[in-house]
Amino acid sequence: MKRSLLILIMLTVILLPGRQTPAPCLLQAERPTGGSDLVRVGDIDNLIVLDLRYASRNNFTGKPVYPVNVALLQRETALKLAAANAELMEQGCRLKLWDAYRPYHLHQLLWELAGDKRYFFADPRYGSVHNRGAAVDVTLVDIRGREVEMPTDFDDFSGRAHRQASMSPAARANMDLLTEVMVRHGFQYIDFEWWHFEDNSWWQYPILDLSLELFAGDEK
Ligand SMILES: [Zn+2]
Repeated sequence: MKRSLLILIMLTVILLPGRQTPAPCLLQAERPTGGSDLVRVGDIDNLIVLDLRYASRNNFTGKPVYPVNVALLQRETALKLAAANAELMEQGCRLKLWDAYRPYHLHQLLWELAGDKRYFFADPRYGSVHNRGAAVDVTLVDIRGREVEMPTDFDDFSGRAHRQASMSPAARANMDLLTEVMVRHGFQYIDFEWWHFEDNSWWQYPILDLSLELFAGDEK
């Protein structure tokens, strides 16, 4: 099973459209050095709370976009996330995961569904770090799994999601804690979505279009 999956992964590394005029990041995608080893986050750390928004109706489209509720990441990225979660648990909280690996064809679909909100999504011509299995959308919950105060909900397309936006002292303290711990464990952040973090080594991994269904169905 594992070998056949690996072969499938190698065969499904896709060629992006518009490659005739590649951007620098596409050049990296052509020669991945780290390959791909997608794993289910729950198999690495089952204490991270999973709330894959695009597998539910609770997202900006109002309907499920992902066909199955399975959170995948590159193995090394998942291990970094588990290390961040372990440190947060020492401080009385945990990570909740809103999004992880996103198959390329579903990224294209989200881009189309986003309409004038597509500014907030990576242009499919270049792909998203989520397509590489090396980006996460996360928030903090308390040790019992209840969300703590943060600047906004997931996919808030207003300026309130910006790290420099005005917010309550509690929201800023929680966002800063999340950011400090994620950075300490090998992630980088962006300014306009406080919940989005990327593995510092994201460029090692190719854009993938592996279906989520391949990893569903044999939950332990
Ligand atoms: Zn994201």
